[in-house]
Amino acid sequence: MEISDEMVQRMKGLYKENGKDISDEEARNSAHKFTEFIELLYGFAKEDAQKKRRLKKEPNGFPVNGRYSCLVCGNEINEETGWYSWYGQTCLLCRDAISNGTVPSFVCTHRDSYYSTWYLKDRFNIKSPTMKKLIKENKLKVRTILNKDGKVHEYLFLKKENPKLAQCDPKRKSPGWKSFERNREKKNKRWAREKTMELKKDIHEAQKKMGLVTKVRKELL
Ligand SMILES: [Zn+2]
Repeated sequence: MEISDEMVQRMKGLYKENGKDISDEEARNSAHKFTEFIELLYGFAKEDAQKKRRLKKEPNGFPVNGRYSCLVCGNEINEETGWYSWYGQTCLLCRDAISNGTVPSFVCTHRDSYYSTWYLKDRFNIKSPTMKKLIKENKLKVRTILNKDGKVHEYLFLKKENPKLAQCDPKRKSPGWKSFERNREKKNKRWAREKTMELKKDIHEAQKKMGLVTKVRKELL
């Protein structure tokens, strides 16, 4: 976006309101970075709104547009292999597993609600042969996503169906880890709150200063 002299002066004015004098060049750089940031936010919001609007017309979803990761199995997906639904983007196999009830859709939005085979191996040191044995003995309750050939695409172990496993999760057991998690959670929440406030302020300023309100309303409504 072209930075006009008027925008440079406005940016200088904004800084001055906050007690800082900056040069024309600094104001031009700030205005440039700021508009890039707003355009990026605007792009995300627009894309999200478009997807939600499309979902109203196509409630069963539609192919993803671009490259993403499946929210369930983590595989890379594209226009041909990925699908966008109200719970987010997945590969076609995971989409079908959700549609036919093999896997609940909340695994897409609550990523901490299940263990993957990778997690069992990494955190519990349960390797594939032991895992299969435990599944067979019904000591592990599994949700199995199959591929077109009827072979296993992905195993998921819901925490609520495997309470014993969840109880002895090394992450839960270690007091050090617990306090680390608690601390991280607190920091994340505080950071998210601060960022939301900053973003709201920035967006409000941008809307006011650059007439984006009209643009957004026209394109989204
Ligand atoms: Zn998948």
